[in-house]
Amino acid sequence: MADYDLKKIRNIGVIAHIDAGKTTTSERILFYTGISHKIGEVHEGDTVMDWMEQERERGITITAAATTAYWMPTDAKNKDEQVKLNIIDTPGHIDFTIEVKRSLRVLDGAVVVFDGVAGVEPQSETNWRYADDYNVPRLCFINKLDRLGASFDRSYQSILERLSPTAVKFQIPNGHEDQFKGIVDLLTMEYVTFEGEKGEKIIKSKDIPEHLKAEADKERAVLIEKIVEHDDVAMGEYLEGKEIALDRLRTIARKAVIAGKIYPVFAGSALKNKGVQLVLDAVAYYLPSPADIPAIKGVDQKTGAEIEVHADEDEPFRALAFKTATDPYVGSLTFFRVYSGKLSSGSYVLNTRTGNQERISRILRMHANEREEVKDIYAGNIAATVGMKDTKTGDTLCDPSVPVILEGIDVPEPVISLRIEPKTKADQEKLGLALRRLADEDPTFRIRGDEETGETIISGMGELHLEIIVDRMKREFSVEANVGRPQVAYRETIKETAQAEGKYIKQTGGRGQYGHVVMRVEPQERGTGFEFKSEIKGGSIPQEFIPAIEKGVREAVDKGVIAGFNMVDVKAIVTDGSYHEVDSSEIAFKIAGATAFAESVKRAKPIILEPIMKVEVIVPDNFMGEATGDLSSRRGRIEKMDDRTALNLKVIDAKVPLSEMFGYATTIRSLTQGRGVFTMEFSHYEEVPANIAQQIIEGKK
Ligand code: GDP
Repeated sequence: MADYDLKKIRNIGVIAHIDAGKTTTSERILFYTGISHKIGEVHEGDTVMDWMEQERERGITITAAATTAYWMPTDAKNKDEQVKLNIIDTPGHIDFTIEVKRSLRVLDGAVVVFDGVAGVEPQSETNWRYADDYNVPRLCFINKLDRLGASFDRSYQSILERLSPTAVKFQIPNGHEDQFKGIVDLLTMEYVTFEGEKGEKIIKSKDIPEHLKAEADKERAVLIEKIVEHDDVAMGEYLEGKEIALDRLRTIARKAVIAGKIYPVFAGSALKNKGVQLVLDAVAYYLPSPADIPAIKGVDQKTGAEIEVHADEDEPFRALAFKTATDPYVGSLTFFRVYSGKLSSGSYVLNTRTGNQERISRILRMHANEREEVKDIYAGNIAATVGMKDTKTGDTLCDPSVPVILEGIDVPEPVISLRIEPKTKADQEKLGLALRRLADEDPTFRIRGDEETGETIISGMGELHLEIIVDRMKREFSVEANVGRPQVAYRETIKETAQAEGKYIKQTGGRGQYGHVVMRVEPQERGTGFEFKSEIKGGSIPQEFIPAIEKGVREAVDKGVIAGFNMVDVKAIVTDGSYHEVDSSEIAFKIAGATAFAESVKRAKPIILEPIMKVEVIVPDNFMGEATGDLSSRRGRIEKMDDRTALNLKVIDAKVPLSEMFGYATTIRSLTQGRGVFTMEFSHYEEVPANIAQQIIEGKK
């Protein structure tokens, strides 16, 4: 039997625009749940969640680690009302889309934090949309009401206008800025204040401040209507003038929130210790448990049939690895969510991507400041394990006797790269190790060596992504490195079939060299990569030299032929050649192979491919012209324009070359008085127009 009632589990994330107060709110959550015994302020660099040093300095949270805590609702009447929270950390920055997506994939509900001065900001909108895509129920927390210029109403309006017309106030604040004193709970009609050193003493009173009574009555009526509208019986009673009991209102609201029909809105100031506990209450009351979410889909690896996976401990064990990290104390950590069944320490799991079985020696539950070792972990839960060898983000871990693949997490192609070079000889060795460790953690980060220059090329999802990698290298691995400018990850390919030969013959004095290869190259479909084949049958080249030819060709493929970029979607076939009994060697054939490949590529109409991004821009109606004009000037193709219902917004879908998107965040803001937002992800590779190809070859782009 599971140690905790499934219905009492809440797998949640706190989502926010950078600086809205996600870290402070999460930290308060850990404090109030009693796990963290000390309140550390973000500006002192002393929070519990941000355990990577470098995140602390930047104030950006990059990892998606999960932390477990327990919460007893403030008006709980008995012990059964306690919920177990698994808080999954989510990043706010757009370059970490993959992190946001993978955390959304495994959480069941979210608290979206807003800055009470700024209201809805670009990233809140982006993240809101991702949460829409994953059908994640949400609560809104309008934070920072103590700040100069804060307005609960204005922020609420911005949520209505820009995110959802079905956001509903569950509270109203008493005062703003330094007069922000407490909160009126519109459901219970109680006035709540937060006393004690850290707001831990909650005082609830039926005496709503006089000046708020009229507003509270009015807003309560709105709230009740918005709730009962989701239940016909209650609606009827309400229209007859009957009072609907609190518990019943909460139950109806819970259903509506889980169905994504309403988004409750709360007020507070995490920094000034006001309101966070009531948000935790709301997490318990309104956000789903693993039992409330639809079954997830998977594929039976033996039969190929689609299956449904239910949060049921009697089904076979199935889990999704959603994060790998390196922990200073225990080494490599793999975080996973169990979708069905149970896992006991000491048992074996199958990774369906690699086909390998691994023994799970320890199962850890991560709390804010301690690790708890548990024997078993059950459906609906989140935990970590140590020492897995080859498990990556998105891998399915399951019962070896019933292999399945769960709907994974798409890992986008890296599109930006830069050269990196160790500063000293001592750094050289550490560099490789550090990069490999970082790449193990992050599936969107890749490493490649340039054999000619000895340099290392790293690629990732965006400029900030790579910047942070370089930073972590310095901090966590003490490696100093020089880095080049970020470069778009272009590719090369060919458009036609062509044939050429390569010779490497030296026969003057001493032992000679003899390699001669005839090769044909053929274009392949996009996304097929590179393929090597030999059609040599009659012995014009002895079989033993074929691997050397392949090696030479593969090196040429990595280096590219026309502009130094990786070649893709090409098949190279050795058709003929000749050899010399004495002078032929592997090295001669390797060189001849590379030459034959390069020569045939040159005859096969080589082209450069560039990454094209799927860009979605959201702007107020009146800025539509500016936004589309600007996209066109960036070689963008506008594919669709939609109205965002009731919000006076236009949504523009476009395909734009990545090389034209540098600095777009700034442009779109200035074009739209700060209102425009965008999201961008890799779509596909496409041929670069000739004039631009020329600039790329000349190294000007
Ligand atoms: P994150 O980037 O969303 O994680 O935001 P942080 O929690 O790091 O907060 C950003 C800044 O806002 C920090 O300097 C916090 O001290 C401050 N902050 C957070 N919550 C509040 C609040 O309720 N009121 C005020 N005045 N400042 C806050």
